[in-house]
Amino acid sequence: MKILMQIDMEGITGVTTWEHVTPGHAEYARFRRLMTQDVNAAIRGACEAGADEIVVADGHWNGSNILVEELDPRARLNTGSPSPLSMMQGIDESVDGVMFIGYHARNGTPNAVLDHTWSRMTVANVWLNDILTGEYGLNAAVAGHFGVPVIMASGDQTACGQIVEQLGDMETAIVKQATGRYAAECLTPEVSQELIFTTAARAVNRLAEGDVPDPFVVDAPFRVTVEFFTSDMADRASLLPGSQREDTRVSITTKDMVSTYRGFRAMVTLALS
Ligand SMILES: [Zn+2]
Repeated sequence: MKILMQIDMEGITGVTTWEHVTPGHAEYARFRRLMTQDVNAAIRGACEAGADEIVVADGHWNGSNILVEELDPRARLNTGSPSPLSMMQGIDESVDGVMFIGYHARNGTPNAVLDHTWSRMTVANVWLNDILTGEYGLNAAVAGHFGVPVIMASGDQTACGQIVEQLGDMETAIVKQATGRYAAECLTPEVSQELIFTTAARAVNRLAEGDVPDPFVVDAPFRVTVEFFTSDMADRASLLPGSQREDTRVSITTKDMVSTYRGFRAMVTLALS
């Protein structure tokens, strides 16, 4: 069994502020080590349950957070950016299941640590067709393009709740109870990493038994709509050929989910420029 572990940082053990997840900040060094440890716990659990190939994709910021020298040697690491598939680098038909580690809720969600959708400076909301979603939905839809289900998530209770609500009944490791955007009651690493280990093992056991959600597949054609915070962001995003604009919302429609994902990334990159 081959598992792709897609890693973000806001839902990592102990993280509650932007300082924890921002390169260059003094606190960041502590949390990239904890991020690596959360990933290692998931690798141990997956391998214990029979996974024999693990690919990790570092999906936070510039994709250069996980400490490769401290990563479990049974895994390979996709790091750096931009890569062709960004957060989902490493996905293809050979993957049997995807795990979301360190995930966060979509922008605007109460009781959710560092809630945002892809870019906290630019994106207010994202819809995939008419489905309001977050990074979890966009990334799951790319996995769905290749016929691969998401089988596990870790993060705060709100992120895990949104993921299960949209993607189906999967194993979750709730490593903190969020009480605000910048506040949470956190498990300590020793406890949370044991939880991630057992959750990952259960997820892979369920995958082997066929007891996991269906791949997340939305209906073609694939339209992504981004609501930006300000009109100048929409001005720049709508420079993308083929995009359609309505006020601060810009959308693009394509015939396959991977192209729509690329269109989404292009719009957000333009909006930020
Ligand atoms: Zn994120």
